[in-house]
Amino acid sequence: MDERLSKPITYLKGVGPKRSELYNKLGIETVYDLLYHFPRRYIDFTEDVPIAKAPADEPSVIRAEVVKKLPEARIRGGMSIFKAVLTDGESDITLIMYNNRYGFEKLAVGSWYALYGKVTGTLVRKEISSPLILDLSAGETVEPVYALTEGLTQYALRQSVRNALLTLGDFIYEPLPKWVMGKYKLCSLEYALENIHFPKDMHTCSIAKQRLVFDELLTLSLGMRLLKKKSREQSGCVMKKTDISQFEKSLPFELTGAQRRAISEVTEDMCREYPMNRLVQGDVGSGKTAVAAGAAFFACKNGFQTAMMAPTEILAAQHFETLGKFLEPLGVKCALLTGSLTPKKKAALKEQIAAGEFDVIVGTHALVQESTHFKRLGLVITDEQHRFGVKQRAALSGKGDNPHRLVMSATPIPRTLALMIYGDLDLSVLDELPKGRQKIETYAVTGKLRDRAFSFVKKQLDEGRQAYFVCPMIDESDPAMMKTELASVKKYAKELSEGAFANHSIGLLHGKLAPDKKEKVMRDFKNKKTDILVSTTVVEVGVDVPNATVMVIEDADRFGLSQLHQLRGRVGRGQYSSYCILISNNKNEDSRKRLKILSKTSDGFVISEEDLKLRGPGDFFGSKQHGLPKLRIADMSEDINTLKAAQSCCMDILDKDPELKLPENKWLREIVGMLFEKGEE
Ligand code: ADP
Ligand code: MG
Repeated sequence: MDERLSKPITYLKGVGPKRSELYNKLGIETVYDLLYHFPRRYIDFTEDVPIAKAPADEPSVIRAEVVKKLPEARIRGGMSIFKAVLTDGESDITLIMYNNRYGFEKLAVGSWYALYGKVTGTLVRKEISSPLILDLSAGETVEPVYALTEGLTQYALRQSVRNALLTLGDFIYEPLPKWVMGKYKLCSLEYALENIHFPKDMHTCSIAKQRLVFDELLTLSLGMRLLKKKSREQSGCVMKKTDISQFEKSLPFELTGAQRRAISEVTEDMCREYPMNRLVQGDVGSGKTAVAAGAAFFACKNGFQTAMMAPTEILAAQHFETLGKFLEPLGVKCALLTGSLTPKKKAALKEQIAAGEFDVIVGTHALVQESTHFKRLGLVITDEQHRFGVKQRAALSGKGDNPHRLVMSATPIPRTLALMIYGDLDLSVLDELPKGRQKIETYAVTGKLRDRAFSFVKKQLDEGRQAYFVCPMIDESDPAMMKTELASVKKYAKELSEGAFANHSIGLLHGKLAPDKKEKVMRDFKNKKTDILVSTTVVEVGVDVPNATVMVIEDADRFGLSQLHQLRGRVGRGQYSSYCILISNNKNEDSRKRLKILSKTSDGFVISEEDLKLRGPGDFFGSKQHGLPKLRIADMSEDINTLKAAQSCCMDILDKDPELKLPENKWLREIVGMLFEKGEE
């Protein structure tokens, strides 16, 4: 890359230590980062409405002429208020600006401006406060809006971007080979960077965006492909074909065809000379654990240890229990290694693991920690891997001698997306549920029917069943909200225990509980010491309580469909008919339609496709979920055609130049290399 791009942000005119600190807060450290800090959105000043028609609850664009400017007013605290009266020919509006002398002085009586902001006030007295103002005589029609941080203004940021572009001057940095730009009809990077930040109109902006989205998806595709290739190195764990009918025979049920197929794909993989990298994808309840057990048994028969990593303690404990049940009778020794063990126990266990006394080790991230050594690690299984970053995946594989990797995910992902997220993995799909599985009757209702829903739940409890209540959703990315969440989940549980469910025992599960407390709450529910489990979304995917038959989900419209589908998968795991009640007061038609889909189908793939259509890929691409580098501009559902194009381009490039060694690909190689260094938690 041009070295000017990798210069720290202070290289730019006007960026001193103080401002650079603000930039750092936004994750901007280099000139490159700044240029790739794209506007979050644009205000199109050509889409104006008459003042009289401006909606009251959201900002809009109006065009108006300044009629007169009022004298400055000062109020307590030294604040200056500037007001002007404007008209669009039909209605008047008062413009109010606070402490913005500079902006105010620029306004000229008799000139027309475009204003963007919320129009408030009454029918006859309209006001607009601190709007964005565009001078229509300057000829611009589009204003980008950036993510900012306190102390950094839109204006300052734009100045810096301008300077960055000027600094690059006429240096033409073009990472894409010419033929790619021709074939996929892309503008130059130079044009794209200029026009994503300073578009003349929405059209140039979209040309620029097209190019940048393509770049991003192409580099990601290339990165995942190369990662896959890199993992095709000699494995030190080549296994031999081994008879595992003993395992099948000892199971309390007959494997489904899909499970059998997956196990044979897995065992074949493990006999190859390069490590397996396989994803087993199957809807909730499709029986992924049995596949994992089969794989572990195969590895054990071959004299190798298996490590199985789950995202939470609860899940790890449960896997340990299940695997133990399947495998211990066959002489396979299993251990549970989690963060909540006492240091002494942990140390002792680790010693035994290193000595090879255990064949299957189940645990949480503690397993990834450097200090755990294995004697002969041959297979690494990760459950619900979308919570583990690509990096974590790699860290576990780094242990042992290039062990085989098996990843299990319950998130059905549309194929195009799977190609991207799991581009480095081969795929086995469990597309068949075990026989006799009950459909989970699902009802979407409004809060008005809550009482009826609760009496329904009570009837289930009276019959000896148990119930889950999932609490109102709260934004988890916000620490302040997390506190509120705790309060709200406690309040909710209290209301239940004082109201409809006064005669039942209630357990409470939330993210703030210490791991051992969580464990206890879960165990109590599992052992039927409690009838009801009230929880935030920490009722992790995967928890297995067959006696629980009802799930009530509050604020259901705020969850993704796939997430709801996974949540409801907590019930319907035993011989009883099971129910899921989705409560939502959202009257929005789309939202009601979304929830209805869940009542209609129980096919996870159908649901995820719908989710993608209706809501975008937030569920899959909530930044934490997939472990991929953060996307700066692409949106994998909106840009699905570009995604396909980028994937085909990726193949074209790698066919010609499998390791990106050609001079025409040297920039690409560099960007792809940077991909997995940054942007991962
Ligand atoms: P998931 O794919 O959601 O992880 P699990 O592996 O937890 O599913 O399996 C769900 C339940 O189904 C478990 O109780 C498991 O013992 C049972 N199960 C798995 N495979 C079969 C099968 N082939 N026939 C009947 N029950 C099965
Ligand atoms: Mg599972």
